[in-house]
Amino acid sequence: MARVYNFSAGPAVLPEEVLREAADEMLDYKGSGQSVMEMSHRSKVYDQIIKEAEKDLRELMGIPENYKVLFLQGGASTQFAMIPMNLMKHKKAGYVLTGQWAKKAFSEAKIYGEAVELASSADKTFSYIPDCSDLPITEDMDYVYICENNTIYGTKFHTLPNTKGRELVADVSSCFLSEPVDVTKYGLIYGGVQKNIGPAGVVITIIREDLVTEEVLPGTPTMLKYKTHVDAESLYNTPPCYGIYICGKVFKWLKQMGGLSEMKKRNEKKAALLYDYLDKSSLFRGTVVKEDRSLMNVPFVTGNDELNAKFVKEAEAAGFVNLKGHRTVGGMRASIYNAMPYEGVAKLVQFMEDFEKNNR
Ligand SMILES: *Cc1c(COP(=O)(O)O)cnc(C)c1O
Repeated sequence: MARVYNFSAGPAVLPEEVLREAADEMLDYKGSGQSVMEMSHRSKVYDQIIKEAEKDLRELMGIPENYKVLFLQGGASTQFAMIPMNLMKHKKAGYVLTGQWAKKAFSEAKIYGEAVELASSADKTFSYIPDCSDLPITEDMDYVYICENNTIYGTKFHTLPNTKGRELVADVSSCFLSEPVDVTKYGLIYGGVQKNIGPAGVVITIIREDLVTEEVLPGTPTMLKYKTHVDAESLYNTPPCYGIYICGKVFKWLKQMGGLSEMKKRNEKKAALLYDYLDKSSLFRGTVVKEDRSLMNVPFVTGNDELNAKFVKEAEAAGFVNLKGHRTVGGMRASIYNAMPYEGVAKLVQFMEDFEKNNR
């Protein structure tokens, strides 16, 4: 069996141990005689899976009691609508535009109220994070929205914005569980799990309980009210059962690895290997300003489209797959999420060095 080094931005690489365990349990989950895919979401055995997943996630992130954890569906993109529908009590919110995902959330919010652009890095193709220390935030804004790690452009907020007392709402899809987080700084944190946690189809939303109210925008569907899912503990309807089960396994894997501060250390070490090489290479270069670099998504270019294409092709043949940059940016992007081993990045850098020698 040959596993490739998968640098996909998402769906992305998962820990091999987790996949093996899931394979072992495929036909008979712990003596139940069923696959998790086949069992009732109302069964005792499934209830234990989802409750334990929540407990482990709470432990990993240090989620305080007054925050609710929801396992939802519809991907991160459904949250683009769900957030304004539930949180725009004054029909106004501020958005920081740092890339495509923030822009999409911004456009969606405009359907429901006044979405104000607070800052943007569009002037330099989103290659940096704008200064967010003194944004034009007004009292009547219900929240300030950021995309904390920009999957496509490879930037990350290393300092959270000064929200001037407004609630901070963050899309953490591509940096979920990659480092410790102070949940109390946010009103709502959410992410699709297919980048760093599990299979596509699950989105996790962590929301402070006082933000969960009956008072939502008129016409909000039952399924899109946070309160529906809080009241039913993520079991209002059939949840993405199997996906949640895999997420639960990844939480256990992360705990076993030593938790989020250990993951941060590993991720920093992995990313440094690649960034250090990019900084000294005469062929490749990173596209993001140094201080805003993401630990998870590393875009880079040669400056020559033909060479880029040649690199992607040869890398793939050598077992380094999904290195092509996002269709809107071009070049290359290596996504080096939690489950990408150090060895994978080391071998990629070696491959890049060889490519550089052969293509002077
Ligand atoms: C992938 C991604 C999304 C979109 O996720 P879907 O689950 O496909 O809707 C949104 N935000 C960020 C930061 C992402 O990386």
